[in-house]
Amino acid sequence: MGVIRKLDPHLVNQIAAGEVIERPASVVKELLENAIDAQAAHIDVAIEDGGKKLIRVQDDGLGMAADDLALAVASHATSKLTSSDDLERIATLGFRGEALASVGSVSQMVVTSCRAGEVGGHSISIDGGRLGDLRAAGAAPGTTVEVRNLFHTIPARRKFLKTEATELGHIVDAMARVALAYPQVAFRLTHNGRTVHNLPRAEDIRERVSAFFGRQLADQLIEIRSDTPVGGLWGLAAPPSESRASTRMQYLFVNGRYVRDRSLLHAIREAYRGLIESNRQPVVFLYLTVPANDIDVNVHPTKIEVRLRSGQQLYREVLAALRQRFLTADLAPRIEDGLALPAGRTADNAPPHAESGAGDTDAQAREMRIRQSMADFLRAPPSSSQQRLSFKRGDRGTGPSGPREFASPVADTEPPPGDLQTAPSPQRAPVAQGVEDAGPRAVQLHNTYLVAETDDGILIVDQHALHERVIYEELRSRLGAGPLESQRLLIPAVLDVTQRERAFLEEHGEQLARLGVEFEPFGTASIGIQAFPMMLTGRAQPERVLRDLLDWAAENGGKLTVDDVLDELLHRMACRAAVKAGDVLTAEEVQSLLAKRHMAEQTATCPHGRPTSLVLPRDEIERQFHRDYRTTRPEDDDTLPPDA
Ligand code: ADP
Ligand code: MG
Repeated sequence: MGVIRKLDPHLVNQIAAGEVIERPASVVKELLENAIDAQAAHIDVAIEDGGKKLIRVQDDGLGMAADDLALAVASHATSKLTSSDDLERIATLGFRGEALASVGSVSQMVVTSCRAGEVGGHSISIDGGRLGDLRAAGAAPGTTVEVRNLFHTIPARRKFLKTEATELGHIVDAMARVALAYPQVAFRLTHNGRTVHNLPRAEDIRERVSAFFGRQLADQLIEIRSDTPVGGLWGLAAPPSESRASTRMQYLFVNGRYVRDRSLLHAIREAYRGLIESNRQPVVFLYLTVPANDIDVNVHPTKIEVRLRSGQQLYREVLAALRQRFLTADLAPRIEDGLALPAGRTADNAPPHAESGAGDTDAQAREMRIRQSMADFLRAPPSSSQQRLSFKRGDRGTGPSGPREFASPVADTEPPPGDLQTAPSPQRAPVAQGVEDAGPRAVQLHNTYLVAETDDGILIVDQHALHERVIYEELRSRLGAGPLESQRLLIPAVLDVTQRERAFLEEHGEQLARLGVEFEPFGTASIGIQAFPMMLTGRAQPERVLRDLLDWAAENGGKLTVDDVLDELLHRMACRAAVKAGDVLTAEEVQSLLAKRHMAEQTATCPHGRPTSLVLPRDEIERQFHRDYRTTRPEDDDTLPPDA
């Protein structure tokens, strides 16, 4: 007898729910989209217990007739689609007719609705997929969906939910993705009776950006506008100095829908190339409007991925529009700010260079250089690949390769087995010794690399990577002796944070305190950093360090241990306090930095996993110049290479 059976519809819904409803925030997303599709002008979201106890979304939209209520909560029932032709030109956020049925199968849900012009309306309840009776209700026009005890039917899922603060954070994110696309709709969010966001109908998206991410960012955004043959493009782009460690602040909307589109995100990144450091990410809010039949949203259950018919052309339009705009925008002071040395740096190995020399003229010249190189960069046609001429570390093998290796363009990704070796490899231990008394035989090149002679070759050090490593090791070893000494800031450094970010900082207040960081809430959307480790005062900007930490935390989600956070904070502090590529160092600074190189010896990589130094072994150099004949042709005269 066969063993295959058809699943009962209730089970089918639960499985479907697994795809769409991952956590309370997914419910909020679906309900908000339904309210928007119903043309609501005001949407009220009430949450209790991070959404585990209650999620209630109330709108003043079109409402549903009594006949439609039972259908609304049935699976594959929708008013937004009738034929398969419709599927090719979706103009609503929903169309699958699955959300309410899915939510109803894993919670206790009550839908109350009243159509405009009618009195009272009706309600229907559904508990773990079991449909209740239709009742008359005393409701205002619009719809209210109340979801209690999410996942009470799937205890394993429910147990998997995170803390109240974390779930609320996800809910705020979900709301931001809708609210940033519909400024003409008013939103309100309360949690356990407390108002989290109250967003009146806005004239300008900037007001929404300000509400979620702070006024400081909102005020700096540059407007982008371009009408293209394939669709309209409008957006707000942050100056390079506002870059982040992750792509989370790249908001992309197509026809009012928040999407993650690899290609368009790449276009954004590409537009900023050369303006921000390669490990940083730009902040952009971009809105595309394309004909409904040019976008296929039926790709992903939560519709976060879409297919765009004119993808390639849109890529070019986005890239061109951003670049064109940057060319005319006065970004220079902000870029300067982004690349500037931490003010008043006092470390013995890195005294402030601007004060020692020509001062103002130095700074002006520097600014001119940046302006010039940016203008050059922006005028250049976008390059299609990441190719560039560079040395590569060959950590995949030590064997020698072709003689032209040094000069060949190497793709950013897979480094070929190289001629350079990551230092120090075991047999090169004496290198460090050689450097410490290398004395005057070390120079700074390209304002980025320190090059020194060693006993058995040439050492090339990345000044930022090494300095970062040295600071990191210093911080770590001091921490071993107890909490870092903190210094109160005269004026607190203000950092705009989202709900979720603030929750994260509060959750990790203890680790922050161990490192000498103290803060307290500053209004609803910011914190004031009041104390910072003494060792770093004047060297790293506290708000930047914490911003980096928060971006990292957002990227790495729920799997962080206390030690992870502590270590990352050390890394971020070290990175922000270290000299940057492009900083001019005096001869003494070069020497003193190299003298500390032993602190980085254990791993030879900076805390972010990049190498701090490379060794060009002497025997390898000799081989390249065919000076190695002595070993192969011992009979030759050693004053001339054989083919010289
Ligand atoms: P979909 O949005 O994909 O159609 P849902 O399960 O989310 O599927 O909703 C089913 C149907 O219920 C919708 O097509 C719509 O007709 C109706 N509906 C749901 N929420 C609302 C609302 N807030 N206001 C009016 N109608 C709604
Ligand atoms: Mg829907």
